[in-house]
Amino acid sequence: MASPTATELEQRLQQIAQRLTPCPIPDFSEGWDLCAHGLPWPCPSTEAAWLARGLGRDEQVRAQLSWLRGERADAHTDASLEIPGLPNPGPDPTTSEGRRGA
Ligand SMILES: [Zn+2]
Repeated sequence: MASPTATELEQRLQQIAQRLTPCPIPDFSEGWDLCAHGLPWPCPSTEAAWLARGLGRDEQVRAQLSWLRGERADAHTDASLEIPGLPNPGPDPTTSEGRRGA
């Protein structure tokens, strides 16, 4: 059996990447660290998916964690911004048309 060419290996990697989807990061702040597979995140499938895409594990973990923190921070900020009398940044011409009067 001949050893696979670089192109064949590349194609294999692409096929693996297409079949594997990284699990979304669980909500660690809720004490939840299991992915959709019921495994501690990042699970082997997630790591394999990153690997197949040429992504670094540590880098991805950091990125996902900061995304999780960022998302939650944004959600919190949105909720606490419900202060009456706060200066309005101005209507967005693309979305506010016809909505305000309804
Ligand atoms: Zn998983």
